[in-house]
Amino acid sequence: MVKFEYIWLDGYQPTQSLRSKTKIEKEFSGKLEDLPMWSFDGSSTKQAPGGSSDCLLKPVFFVKDPQRKNAYLVMCEVLEANGKPHATNGRATIEDDDNDFWFGFEQEYFLWNPNNNKPLGFPDNGYPSPQGQYYCSVGTNNAFGRDIVEEHLDVCIEAGLNVEGINAEVAAGQWEFQIFAKGAKEAGDQIWIARYLLERIGEKYGVSINWHCKPLGTLDWNGSGMHANFSNTLLRTAGDKAVYDKVCEAFRPVVSEHIDVYGADNHLRLTGLHETASIHDFSYGVSDRGASIRIPVATVERGWKGYLEDRRPNSAADPYKVAARIIKTVKTAL
Ligand code: ADP
Ligand code: MN
Ligand code: MN
Ligand code: MN
Ligand code: MN
Repeated sequence: MVKFEYIWLDGYQPTQSLRSKTKIEKEFSGKLEDLPMWSFDGSSTKQAPGGSSDCLLKPVFFVKDPQRKNAYLVMCEVLEANGKPHATNGRATIEDDDNDFWFGFEQEYFLWNPNNNKPLGFPDNGYPSPQGQYYCSVGTNNAFGRDIVEEHLDVCIEAGLNVEGINAEVAAGQWEFQIFAKGAKEAGDQIWIARYLLERIGEKYGVSINWHCKPLGTLDWNGSGMHANFSNTLLRTAGDKAVYDKVCEAFRPVVSEHIDVYGADNHLRLTGLHETASIHDFSYGVSDRGASIRIPVATVERGWKGYLEDRRPNSAADPYKVAARIIKTVKTAL
């Protein structure tokens, strides 16, 4: 018997959450097209009224499930009973899934103690030492929850996700993983599955994953981002600063269109402090971690061949929507 965990995004707004349920089949051909459609009770996920509650699950991406015997994780799109994409189905709104666009998302998050409602590493009363010692740290006083992070890295690799690295972040209990993929759909699928794996490991340890972009509010602690590194053939082969200026300038008139899909509560995070630009401004610069878009110094050193980093998307953003919006804007510069 083979276990398939059908995973979808619910209808909660402004931040959709992961939902899933298990389907047992006798065998599996290994082909996506042989995974059957399924259904769920949309009235329990804010996706349908009780009177006509059925929503459909359409498998769109799968990986091995390393946390379970004989099992797969199946990312699904939600459809209405009539087969049309549901209004909450962001993946279906990707107009142009151009695989020439490569994405490297840096997903930051906090490991969170549900008992005292604080990050791991925070004492029940008061605060740990101020920021400075935690980023890329090692040691009991600096890095909190490494077992969870290591286990997550292992299962991501075993599942076949393109995870590229992990690191402890600037705040206590804050971590990051990076995932690279080609095209908006696959980039989103991979991030969502990686988030799912992390949530499930958290259950084992009694630790929750806090995806909010500013869980410590206005205190002097960093928020969480999901920096979107991106490139297309133009950026990878440009050899010319003017191309980079032109692509960056294409983002300037559409700030609000981008912020709309860059995650809830981003005004709390994009303050101009803590390595962010103000949500009201648009700026770009080489090696500038206080800019909206950073041009990595390595891109310049390779003779203006490489990629850009949009630093504005936050940890709770939907990667499908972020990637789709970036493709759309870059194409206006071409
Ligand atoms: P930072 O210095 O911002 O912390 P990271 O090393 O965490 O950088 O992340 C850099 C990201 O850039 C990685 O996810 C990587 O996949 C991505 N990346 C590298 N080259 C490209 C490229 N040509 N196109 C898109 N993404 C890229
Ligand atoms: Mn039932
Ligand atoms: Mn990083
Ligand atoms: Mn980071
Ligand atoms: Mn970054």
